[in-house]
Amino acid sequence: MEVAPGIHQITCRFGAQRMVFVYLLVGESASMLIDTGCAHNPAQEILPYMAQIGFDPARLTYILITHSDVDHQGGNAPMKRAAPNARLLCHNLDRPWIDSADALVRGRYSQFERDHGIGYGDAGKAGIYADLDCLPVDLTLEGGEYFRLGAGWYVQAVHTPGHTWGHLAVNDPRSRTLISGEASMGTFIPNIDWTPAMPPTYCYVDTYISTQERLMSMDIDLLASAHWTLQRGAAVGEFIRESKNYVLHVESRLLALARQHPFTLRQAIDELSPSLGTWAAAASSEFAYGMSGNLDSLTKRGLLTTARNADHHIVWSLA
Ligand SMILES: [Zn+2]
Repeated sequence: MEVAPGIHQITCRFGAQRMVFVYLLVGESASMLIDTGCAHNPAQEILPYMAQIGFDPARLTYILITHSDVDHQGGNAPMKRAAPNARLLCHNLDRPWIDSADALVRGRYSQFERDHGIGYGDAGKAGIYADLDCLPVDLTLEGGEYFRLGAGWYVQAVHTPGHTWGHLAVNDPRSRTLISGEASMGTFIPNIDWTPAMPPTYCYVDTYISTQERLMSMDIDLLASAHWTLQRGAAVGEFIRESKNYVLHVESRLLALARQHPFTLRQAIDELSPSLGTWAAAASSEFAYGMSGNLDSLTKRGLLTTARNADHHIVWSLA
């Protein structure tokens, strides 16, 4: 559906119950697709939507990937095959994990195995590989670049780190729309029926909070994100503030736990996750991203210290 003049939101389904919104910006002189979903989503939803609105993918000018994650970059190769004239773009800092499925699986999806004993296992990783059809990007951005899509229509890439180092949003001043990807993650990531699928995977807490401050200072009337309902008007600021407050709430819960006893990441997740959201218990391991971000921040600030247990996993305690 067209959510603002020239901005189309396309719902892409993956897994049993998940969905990701990708966006197609159609101007008179140029066009931009923002994210490509998983490997099957170009054929399943994106190209059928383009056909439905009479948009020839050979006309597509840019494919901009908001960040390195399976449900945002997995369709890059099939999308580029269907739109061979489009330049594939992402932020410089996320390029290595977007270029290569192996780099993404070894980097993002294996990062908690050695220090915390938390991972997806061989079957989980095989499922991730099946959703990934990657391709090296053509050009990287730093944030701030303007794209002219038509007479008087410019959109701008905005560096919004937190969920990843190189996360990008796209700002359209004409309609005051921010296509925000996962720059602000609310208090959970929803399923297709809006029930909580998993905790927000915000990762790098200090930069994530800075991103929320920056977004609150911007003039945004429509927040068009990758997984959440469209937010309009006053709801935009509320969603961004809620995203920031949730991270600070998790931080306070982790500090309170440290006052009770030392803990591993697994223990923190098991003890705190049930009272921080209503996702299925099996999804609570996804809190490794957010909580390890909080714990790194608390450790850097000297509030917690780390040691290793007999399994060589990190144990946090009050400094
Ligand atoms: Zn996502």
